[in-house]
Amino acid sequence: MKKLLITIIILAVQFVCAVNAKVISNEKINDAKVKTASKIITNLQKDMPSFIKNGSGPFVAAIYDSDGKLIVKTANSVVNEHCSNNHAEMNAIKAAEEKLGTYDLAPYNLKLYVTAEPCMMCIGGIMWSGIKEVYYGVPSKTVEKITGFDEGFKPHWFREFKKRGIVVYGNIEPELGEQELHKYVNEGYEVYIPSR
Ligand SMILES: [Zn+2]
Repeated sequence: MKKLLITIIILAVQFVCAVNAKVISNEKINDAKVKTASKIITNLQKDMPSFIKNGSGPFVAAIYDSDGKLIVKTANSVVNEHCSNNHAEMNAIKAAEEKLGTYDLAPYNLKLYVTAEPCMMCIGGIMWSGIKEVYYGVPSKTVEKITGFDEGFKPHWFREFKKRGIVVYGNIEPELGEQELHKYVNEGYEVYIPSR
């Protein structure tokens, strides 16, 4: 009986480790946070095709409050709104600040979820918004490899965010997001990078 119990415990630990094996964070991995983020990011990935069909870029973001209530959901709108700053995260921050009537989101303890790793600009935008937690799906290196988008340079951003009290979790359920990025490229949608 004791042996069986030990075997079950070992298997359970291995399962939890396997589930979270790929997730990275700048804090000790919190399984409950990963579970919530997996659900939200999977849903954002499922929303990607309809946003793309309406002219948006292949990235979707959402901001939730600490009670798990959705504040805003936005997609990248660089092409359809003619603005190179209109990444999904920047649009989400702008919409949340407009909705709450403030430039400082910190008192609201908000969490940002996004289908891919924030780029260089969005890392800055997040830092100045007062967002407390960031969760993303597909890592930048994979986005660049699949699409050719330039994500910028971001030295030690996990560490820099930690210094500023911002929690980051990455590589959450990236597979579906990767599929959508492949589809975006294969279907001939625009990869918007400035000409150099
Ligand atoms: Zn960005």
